[in-house]
Amino acid sequence: MISRIDLRGAAFPEGGIDRDLLPRAEFDVEAALEAVRPICEDVRHRGTAAVLDYGERFDGVRPERLRVPERELTQALEGLDPQVRAALEESIRRARLVHHDQRRTDVTTQVVPGGTVTERWVPVQRVGLYVPGGLAVYPSSVVMNVVPAQEAGVDAVAVASPPQAQWGGLPHPTILAACALLGVTEVYAAGGAQAIAMFAYGTDECRPVNLVTGPGNIYVAAAKRLLKGRIGIDAEAGPTEIAVLADGTADPAHVAADLISQAEHDTLAAAVLVTTSAELADAVDKELDVQVAATRHKERVATALSGRQSATVLVDTLDRALEVVDAYAAEHLEIQTADAAEVAARVRNAGAVFVGPWAPVSLGDYCAGSNHVLPTGGCACHSSGLSVQSFLRGIHVVDYSRDALAEVAHHVVTLAGAEDLPAHGAAVTARFSGEVPPGGEV
Ligand code: NAD
Repeated sequence: MISRIDLRGAAFPEGGIDRDLLPRAEFDVEAALEAVRPICEDVRHRGTAAVLDYGERFDGVRPERLRVPERELTQALEGLDPQVRAALEESIRRARLVHHDQRRTDVTTQVVPGGTVTERWVPVQRVGLYVPGGLAVYPSSVVMNVVPAQEAGVDAVAVASPPQAQWGGLPHPTILAACALLGVTEVYAAGGAQAIAMFAYGTDECRPVNLVTGPGNIYVAAAKRLLKGRIGIDAEAGPTEIAVLADGTADPAHVAADLISQAEHDTLAAAVLVTTSAELADAVDKELDVQVAATRHKERVATALSGRQSATVLVDTLDRALEVVDAYAAEHLEIQTADAAEVAARVRNAGAVFVGPWAPVSLGDYCAGSNHVLPTGGCACHSSGLSVQSFLRGIHVVDYSRDALAEVAHHVVTLAGAEDLPAHGAAVTARFSGEVPPGGEV
């Protein structure tokens, strides 16, 4: 079911493995840009009517209005299964604990007496949070987007999720209930590129936002890439990925269950096992056969596991395994080895690392307290998952006295001259009667 890449005995290049040699989903955001460009332009010019039209075309339902009435949120919460409510409340509680501790404090550095630079952390004013609603329903993504935004102190939080034909054009009731639990009252029945364009350009129902975060399919990712600059975006989060770094001590039944758990998201989801043990690889193959046959979304899972994005990679040593997982830069990385914490500490590239046998990725999807909106497609080598930091900007506040400026003025004038920008220097000397203060002696 899952293909095998045997790197035992292979020479590993000095500067690291070429990541293109490793399995990866076909997720060509560039190609989707052409599909979403006219959608975004249409929303820019026709606003709400265009968003509703695309909902009708792609989601098969035209809601009466984009903005979900607040009474629908209250009703969804009242109708929520008590067990689901309790689980969501625990997920929120744990996420709040972790994200609360991520808040930043302003730092003031005294550069010279009378000269300070402060980094002041200021929340983004208005954010749009995208919650997917195509193949699956993700109330957990409401939690993972809203909690860090709220902990960062964002003034206004708006949520968009696709209209569901089955629910009369409203987003799924568990998504509405999760919004209500979190105190979010501004919710829109909009999905795909049209939702991102609605956030970016604004419509008569939705004021434009400064930042859009949240995972989504290729059209969502393409619209975020297209509109980046007009709005800020988080890292592009595409089809989900799990990599498991395991040695012979891992339990094959658990490894197989974890691979399947992420393959369940999407036919493009990637499941990669990197192991030093051929015996474990064989045992996992056997487990996959048994467990996939018994799982609810077996077709989707089987397609994801047999796709070119999924594989078992065999290597000779743990060092080689670490080289492979660093080159792959998985969204989720499990370490199931002896001394898992020590191995995990050596990982450079991953969206999130799950250490040892008791921390499956599913725990992080819902209730670990960590965030599940994480960089995919190798972006974990340069980007982080969603956090409080994603919703903050650091503003440098520069405060110098006359003496502090005088002390450094000659250096400023010199550097301005070296860049042939004499007006820069003049802006300093103008404060000292047109003279350059001699090294602070004014
Ligand atoms: P989605 O809400 O992202 O996309 C549905 C929307 O796509 C629809 O509303 C529709 O407007 C648009 N669309 C569909 N076909 C289109 C077409 N032909 N042209 C233009 N627009 C079209 O929901 P989804 O499709 O289920 O995708 C969710 C994705 O998010 C999955 O890949 C899942 O793995 C991923 N995900 C990632 C994370 C993470 O943290 N990385 C978390 C949850 C989900």
